[in-house]
Order: sequence, then structure tokens, then C-alpha cells
Amino acid sequence: MNTKLSAVSDKRTDLMCSECGHKSSYKIADLILATRVETTTHEVRQSALCRGCGVRVMQVCNRLDEPVRASV
Ligand SMILES: [Zn+2]
Repeated sequence: MNTKLSAVSDKRTDLMCSECGHKSSYKIADLILATRVETTTHEVRQSALCRGCGVRVMQVCNRLDEPVRASV
């Protein structure tokens, strides 16, 4: 799924390295600042760098990819 960062309802997200299991917590606002508002969660995963082992493949391990529920 390609969810834009600007559409993510959570304040923070956790990315987990698929290689070493190292977890990093990111603020969504920081991710937008570091990229663009139009950046998708898919692009974040492709560009995120593990601080543990340096492998560039991270997995989003919380609900970042869930569609935002319309608040009525
Ligand atoms: Zn790693």
C-alpha cells in the first residue's frame, strides 16, 4: 500500500530492520521534513537506514500502512 506520510494518523512510527531486528522510532513530522509531504510509506521503507547494521531495508512494524479512518 502507498500511504502518504501526510495521511498517516499516528504521531510516530516504528521501523524494524529486517536483517538484525534493530528498531528505530521516528516521528512522522520528522520523516516529512526529511523527505516530502507526498512521500509514501513505501518510499520511507526503501530509504530508511538501519542504525544497527546499516542495511537499507526496514519494515514498518506498526499501523503506518493502515488506511486512515474517516473521522465523522
Ligand atoms: Zn539492521
